[in-house]
Amino acid sequence: WTLDSVGGAISIVIPLDQQQQAVRDNVVRDVVYFLLITLLIGAVVYAVTTIFVFRPLNRMKLAFAEMGEGQLVVSLDDTNAAKEVSRLIERFNSTAAELHTIYGHLEEQVESRTDDLRKANTALERQRDTLEHLNTELAKETQFKSDLLSMVNHELRTPLTSIITFAQISREACPPDRESERHSWEEIEKNSQILLAMINDMLDIARSDAGSIRTACEPMDLGDIVCAVKGTMTPLAQKYSVAFCTQVSSDVPLVNGDFEKTQRMLENLASNAIKFTPDGGTVELSINVDESDGSVRMRMADDGIGIAPEDQERIFERFFQVDSTSTRKYNGSGLGLALVREYAAVQGFSVSVESELGRGSIFVISIPSGLIVG
Ligand code: ADP
Repeated sequence: WTLDSVGGAISIVIPLDQQQQAVRDNVVRDVVYFLLITLLIGAVVYAVTTIFVFRPLNRMKLAFAEMGEGQLVVSLDDTNAAKEVSRLIERFNSTAAELHTIYGHLEEQVESRTDDLRKANTALERQRDTLEHLNTELAKETQFKSDLLSMVNHELRTPLTSIITFAQISREACPPDRESERHSWEEIEKNSQILLAMINDMLDIARSDAGSIRTACEPMDLGDIVCAVKGTMTPLAQKYSVAFCTQVSSDVPLVNGDFEKTQRMLENLASNAIKFTPDGGTVELSINVDESDGSVRMRMADDGIGIAPEDQERIFERFFQVDSTSTRKYNGSGLGLALVREYAAVQGFSVSVESELGRGSIFVISIPSGLIVG
């Protein structure tokens, strides 16, 4: 036998089927074990999650639904809940308690407000009843006032006008040698005129209160108005020994307004200016255009007794007179300037005054540029 020579051979035969079957059995068994263990673990995980997480969360879901329906007294039990879910439940419980407190408070507030509203409503109803009653009374008074107005109009003005006319005729017919009789007729005429002016003023004030003042709005020539005012005021100025002069700038345009009322306003201002200016004084009515804003200014200036600053607004109040004592030396009802302001307002004009005691007064009626014709 030499090295590397073949001395014999052994043949071993192993059946492959048996081997493969054993391997297959092993694999199947392992897979079955694995599946069983996985199923077991899944079941345990499912049971634990259901008990400690899903059930508490489901309870919370139901509690939220109850809260949504207005049931705020909710308290959830956190036993059998996972740590995190238990915290969530605690938070939920405290929030529900807070909401309950706030809601309760709100309900109280709403109730108290409703109560307040109910009381206010009752008070309002009572006031409405009172107002309705007052309204009825007012309607009666307005009716009474308008009856009185027409009564004054017919029963006082008509006879007064005849008294004035007859006094005039009688004065003029009086022979020159009966001086005292003539003087008596003059006095009757003068005082009747004063009375008529007062009645006219009061009627106008009453009409303005009743809202029945009618104003025309048509082009008017202020120059014509000034001429008319000069005509009526010159005799008064002569009587008081006061110079009354007028001046109208050539560029004064036509303006829209009520001729009669504007004349009456200027006459009221002029008669005051003449009355409150001592003998030898001057009253000047001038009209010009204010270059700054294009408005037309009617200015009544006097160098009379003047008005103290604290009275300058009050003189436009009804019946206000600076000297209201029974010994006052000037005639008047205290309605002239109130009417001037009312007439100015209804026509869209404005009135202002500047004055200094002992030095005189200036009353200005401004007609805005919007009322200029053309
Ligand atoms: P009255 O009929 O008394 O004149 P007014 O309303 O016209 O009533 O005027 C109110 C008061 O304003 C007057 O009583 C007077 O005291 C004062 N007043 C008006 N205009 C002048 C003026 N030009 N100068 C001084 N005082 C005046």
